[in-house]
Amino acid sequence: MNAPSVSPNSSIADMQDRRLLMDRSVPGHHAVALPEPDVPVSDLPDADLLRDVGDLQLPEVDQLEVIRYFTLLSRLNFSIDTNFYPLGSCTMKYNPKLNDQMASLGGFANIHPLQDDVAVQGALEVMHELQKWLGEATGLPAVSLAPLAGAQGEYAGLLIARAALEARGESHRNVALIPDSAHGTNPASAAMAGLDVVVVKTDEFGNVDVEDLREKADDKTCVFMLTIPSTLGLFEPNIIEINQIIHDAGGLVYADGANLNALLGLVKLGDVGVDICHSNLHKTFSTPHGGGGPGAGPVMVTRRLASFLPDPVVVQARSSDAGPRGYRYRLYRPIESIGKINGFHGSFSILVRAYTYMQSLGGDGLRSVSENAVINANYIQAQLRDRFDLAVDRICMHETVLSGKRQADRGVPALNIAKRLLDYGIHAPTMYFPLIVPEALMVEPTETESKETLDRFISVMQAIDDEISSEPETVLNAPHSLPVSRLDEATAARRPVLRWQPDGD
Ligand SMILES: *Cc1c(COP(=O)(O)O)cnc(C)c1O
Repeated sequence: MNAPSVSPNSSIADMQDRRLLMDRSVPGHHAVALPEPDVPVSDLPDADLLRDVGDLQLPEVDQLEVIRYFTLLSRLNFSIDTNFYPLGSCTMKYNPKLNDQMASLGGFANIHPLQDDVAVQGALEVMHELQKWLGEATGLPAVSLAPLAGAQGEYAGLLIARAALEARGESHRNVALIPDSAHGTNPASAAMAGLDVVVVKTDEFGNVDVEDLREKADDKTCVFMLTIPSTLGLFEPNIIEINQIIHDAGGLVYADGANLNALLGLVKLGDVGVDICHSNLHKTFSTPHGGGGPGAGPVMVTRRLASFLPDPVVVQARSSDAGPRGYRYRLYRPIESIGKINGFHGSFSILVRAYTYMQSLGGDGLRSVSENAVINANYIQAQLRDRFDLAVDRICMHETVLSGKRQADRGVPALNIAKRLLDYGIHAPTMYFPLIVPEALMVEPTETESKETLDRFISVMQAIDDEISSEPETVLNAPHSLPVSRLDEATAARRPVLRWQPDGD
């Protein structure tokens, strides 16, 4: 056992026992005590089917050791519950614990997707209410909660566009027009939906280049995919004109509304001519996410397109055999549905979290979410603009895209600024995205951070900028204080070590 050397001056981190679970194993230790059997003991099945216990390398550890080990793992990571996490485009906001409490209520947590409608009326009512709230928030009243992620919402939305045009006898329309600033999932979803991608330029103000769009919108256009706010964190001021151009050309407008955090109660996408959108419940509507955890990407459309929604949507009918409220909820397959896009009805527990979040804030609360998210991002932008270049010099929405060009000219690229932030206990912003901004640092503070936290972030960014002049090596070799420093990301992705192996294997 290699105990870490501890001196009176060691930090709490030095004192942590970092050994792997296997290395904590002591023969005979165990975490549970099984009671004496109260049923007749019978022989094991065919012994040939059993592995030799000696071959199984399992840790023998007591309960306290297990708790300490997994608590340690959780503390080696950055999380919103421990650190400021301004990861642009991801909306890493505080997720009220109430949402988790509601999702774990037995009536929600212990139901099965194959249960009969009658037995799960409460769950269906929550889904129906959530459909209404999302329809109201986006101005696109027909909603399916089925998609399991933002990208799946996009994919569903594009299949809806294709199906709607095909129903009009225009299946030859096979082009998705996508701005060069779009989120990377947009062209990927378009390709999966069988569309050809044609890129539309961004103008010097960070807007869609309207003249370029006008030239490219034609009788091949199936759909235009607009990320709103754009990945530059900007509102698209020409949105009505743009949508008109697409509609005049006979196409449909898809809005990537993954980041509704800037728009709630301020702009309804349906009001400005959008036909289809999705939203990421696991960003705006507060579900812990990251690392590929569960998400939900409902798709919202105009009434005209409702019949193409993925299966299922929840519908409500007056019914004499229904409960006290006289309604009966059921799952319904829209008549021209693009079909099922996954096994069941969506990420149900994420839907409960989103509904809880909306209910606890109410309409006015949701509007103040967006107002505060926008103010927080602009505060950071205004305080840092003398030190860092801005991708576009304009009032931003819920995130600001800085450029580390001036710092790169002094020999320290944006990557190292991101790494150095970790030493100060701040998660790095989104890096090198959008691709059209050199040395991009995309900062999204969210509305849940206090002015004190924003001020600390600003001071840290200024301190790093000073370090780049006075001691660039410190920044170039960061981070200095984390359990691991510079990871070999390529090898980690190509030859991941996913489980413990005995020495020498
Ligand atoms: C996060 C995001 C997506 C993708 O969402 P996933 O749930 O990760 O699939 C799409 N578009 C934008 C603008 C996003 O920020």
